[in-house]
Order: sequence, then structure tokens, then C-alpha cells
Amino acid sequence: MYDIIIIGAGPAGMTAAIYARRAARSVMVLEALACGGQIINTPDIENYPAEEHISGFDFSEKLHNQAKNLGAEFIFEKAVGIETDGNIKKVVTAKNTYEAKAVIIATGSENRKLGLDEEDRLVGRGISYCATCDGNFYRNKTVAVVGGGNTALEDALYLADLAAKVYLIHRRDSFRGEATTATKLMERPNVEIVYNSNVTRLIAEKRLTAIEVTNNVDGSVRTIELNGLFVAVGRIPENQNFASLVTLDDAGYVMAGEDCHTSTPGIFAAGDNRVKLLRQLVTATADGAMAATEAIKYISEME
Ligand code: NAP
Repeated sequence: MYDIIIIGAGPAGMTAAIYARRAARSVMVLEALACGGQIINTPDIENYPAEEHISGFDFSEKLHNQAKNLGAEFIFEKAVGIETDGNIKKVVTAKNTYEAKAVIIATGSENRKLGLDEEDRLVGRGISYCATCDGNFYRNKTVAVVGGGNTALEDALYLADLAAKVYLIHRRDSFRGEATTATKLMERPNVEIVYNSNVTRLIAEKRLTAIEVTNNVDGSVRTIELNGLFVAVGRIPENQNFASLVTLDDAGYVMAGEDCHTSTPGIFAAGDNRVKLLRQLVTATADGAMAATEAIKYISEME
């Protein structure tokens, strides 16, 4: 029996582990893939206090080492559900069931897809959801990025250093992402921004060769020949496995406030998978601290 099981080893989950271990609570962190969560895809973090520049990969590694050195146990299995037995929480994975006094769900989110025909088949054959992972394959080639949030802007900027030409296709005429990044992008001679437009068709043989782009103001259709398409149209929270115990909103985010309490006492939510106004690295780590502190308080009251 652990004091706290944390589901998800992203910035929120690993920060929760640090806070819980510093309070001498036993902690197990369950991770389905690799530590770090979505931040490992960010090439250069410039907005985390006291870190002027750090790659998402290095940031994750530092955080992982910090949690591990404090004694957090990491197990690489995917949590598929949570059950309660009185006050005991049981976290179920494909292989095992683990017990804890409190659980923190810090599962983050997964890539949203465009929903176009052939999109799944073309992943790795011209379609990618991670510019820093796959950008290198497109050196001196033509690529497009879809989206208007920070991820799309940062991906386009990153790719502008590698590719010969980068199209940024956004469905509106203003960006959701930071104006400073958008301004940097507009200064790049090899970047063309295609506003008010959606990708409406993928044109491919074995690999993607072109995309059809439709202007949603005048209805005009344009074909752009390219080698790679980077989809950065947001993320979907990964909470469905826990929906029987925690209330979700219509978009699938856990209904938990700043104190990270969910609808089940002893189960907390931290990070991008919770309802919140600002999803940033700094708010994810803040959530981790808050969720761990509240979990510790909950356990102490039970003892
Ligand atoms: P996001 O902020 O939700 O932006 C998604 C973008 O995709 C929006 O511009 C949206 O258009 C567009 N979009 C959504 N569905 C679409 C569809 N079906 N077809 C075409 N376009 C579609 O997602 P994100 O950029 O991945 O960022 C997620 C969170 O992480 C944000 O809070 C972001 O600020 C944060 N983030 C922070 C950093 C950083 O701090 N350095 C880096 C990356 C991400 P509309 O604008 O029209 O809705």
C-alpha cells in the first residue's frame, strides 16, 4: 500500500512526487510511455521562471532525476482504471492492481487529429504530430504546420530553421498563441502564413505529396505540394479511464478547481487534464505541488 499513487509522469505528476516525497510519503508514479509528457516535444522553453532557455527533454530529465533521487518509485504501466474499496484506492493497470491511500491523476492529454481520410495511414509517411521528433527528416524540404496555438507557432519556427519552406495554415485570421512568437515567425522569409483556411484533403500515394487547403471566407481551394504536414491543433485530455469516479466536463477535462480535488475524496487531478484557464508548464508544476499538498492533508486526516 502506497501513500500516494500518481498517474502520469509529466511535469505535474513529477512535481507532485517531489512534494509528496519531501513530506516523507511513499510515492509510486505510474507512466504509460516515457517520463516528461508533452513538454519533451518543446525544443526551447523560454517562459519557465529562472530558466531562460532549456529544452523540454532536459527539463523532464532534471525533474525525473529530482523525483527519483528523493525516493519516488516509477513503474512503466498504463493505468486503465481506478476502483475504491472503502477509503482504499485501487489503481488498475493491464498487469497489476496497486493500492494507495490517495491518487493523483496527472495524465495530461493526447494529440487531436484533423479527422481527414488517410490521416492515420500517413503518420510516419509525411504526417507528424511532433516537429522536434520528426523535423530533421524534412531538412531543405517543404512542410506545412496546421494550427494557431503556441505549439503550432513554435513548431513552425523550429521547422523554419530546417526546412526550405514552411506554410502555417490557420483556420482564423488571428493566433491563439503568443504574439511574440507569431511576430518572430512573420519575420522569417521562408514562412508563408495561410489564414482563414483548413486542410480539407490529404493527397498521397505511398507518402503524402500534397494537401488541399480551403479558404473558409471565400471558399477558394488551393493545392500545396509538400513533403511533410505537422498537425498541431491542440490536445484531448486523457481522462476517460477514470470517468466512473471523477466528474468530467463536456470536453473531457476533470472538474477540479485550484485545490485539485475531484468529485471523489482522496482522488486529485493535476495538470493539463483538469479544467483550468491557463495550460502552461508553470501551471502544471503548480498543480503538482497543490495536488500533493492536498493529498497529504487528506491522508493525515484519515490517520
Ligand atoms: P491550443 O492552444 O488549444 O491551440 C490549438 C489550435 O489549433 C488553435 O489555434 C485552434 O484554432 C486550432 N484547431 C483546433 N482544432 C482544429 C481543427 N480541427 N482544425 C484546424 N485547426 C484547429 O493547443 P496547443 O497549441 O497545442 O497548446 C496547448 C496548451 O499548451 C496551450 O495552453 C498552450 O499555450 C500551451 N503551450 C505552451 C507552450 C509554452 O509555454 N512555451 C508551448 C506549447 C504549448 P482556434 O484558435 O481557431 O481555436
